[in-house]
Amino acid sequence: MDNIQHPENDSCYRSLNVNQGPDKQPPVVNPYMKRVRRKPLPSAGELVEGILKGDISVLSRAVTLIESLNPQHQTVAQEVIEKCLPYSGNSRRIGITGVPGAGKSTSIDVFGLHVLRDGGKLAVLAIDPSSERTKGSILGDKTRMEKLSQHPSAFIRPSPSAGSLGGVARKTRETIVLCEAAGFDNIFVETVGVGQSETAVHSMVDFFLLIQLAGTGDELQGIKRGIMEMADGIVINKADGDNIDRARLAQAQFRSALHLFPPTASGWQPEVLTYSGYFELGISEVWDMIDRYFAFVKENGYFERRRLEQARYWMYETINERLRDHFYSNPVVEQMLGEKELRVLANKQSSFTAARDVLDAYFNKM
Ligand code: GDP
Repeated sequence: MDNIQHPENDSCYRSLNVNQGPDKQPPVVNPYMKRVRRKPLPSAGELVEGILKGDISVLSRAVTLIESLNPQHQTVAQEVIEKCLPYSGNSRRIGITGVPGAGKSTSIDVFGLHVLRDGGKLAVLAIDPSSERTKGSILGDKTRMEKLSQHPSAFIRPSPSAGSLGGVARKTRETIVLCEAAGFDNIFVETVGVGQSETAVHSMVDFFLLIQLAGTGDELQGIKRGIMEMADGIVINKADGDNIDRARLAQAQFRSALHLFPPTASGWQPEVLTYSGYFELGISEVWDMIDRYFAFVKENGYFERRRLEQARYWMYETINERLRDHFYSNPVVEQMLGEKELRVLANKQSSFTAARDVLDAYFNKM
């Protein structure tokens, strides 16, 4: 019993005896064992240089820093973004959404090859809020886009997985800047069409494509009105085989539903098309529509206006996100919130005075 201070040496653990370990660790005896060295953190200058040359491995490294929670990585990442900003903006940013099973990955595979047929470079990014729970994202996964993932001019990056939807979306927004600086002139941002993430994607793209399915009988009911209102184009996938008629019917229903919506800010009348991603039917029609849209909004000035509005939106979003994080990670706040919540739930205090007390405590500490 030479280590009686150790709690497990207490008499209640009579069969346990914890001995003191050696003071010094012996040297490694396995001569084949290689110590894993962490790659040194590159400087912002080195990263920017690689990105501007279009070096994909440097770009990936920089994106990893954007996604990292390590403050040192964040400092380098922010400097890289700042330096890449003057070289960014030169791309078509296209948001693609649809419920799971709508055919997003099949479609992105063929859409991607279609836009790359005349050269250029394509980045496929994703925003997947569900990855928060599953600790890993399926969207943007290379295995889902078999042909595109082998294309030398395509860069596919799954959704950042850590943090709130706002945080995940901000990281994707920042990744766009780096991709553009690396010469990617088409950016797809994919998301699952089931919740808030569409709003986040909509706030970072020029064109928003909604992929729908026909033949479920309740075409218009399952879709949130808000998502339809954001769409610049609605495309009904799987218009093949005996599904063609149903797809056409859904197209007519969507068209008439869109007429009930107020005019869009861009002045563009959203179009509804049918296609088949799997059988590659109607793909060029979808891209003709997107080309027409870009020509239209560049001509009437809406393209620039929307990008400026988005830049402003992201400034406030970033401020809001940082403030929220700072507040909720404050230890005093954390402790008080637990106590106050119990009091509110037990009807001992009103929500408002409880909130006021926590906020007062927070602000007084500033
Ligand atoms: P995601 O979950 O939205 O990414 O959808 P996927 O691309 O994984 O497609 C879901 C399923 O629908 C897969 O089994 C595809 O093979 C199938 N699918 C996708 N596009 C089409 C299409 O155009 N026609 C038909 N018949 N099936 C398709």
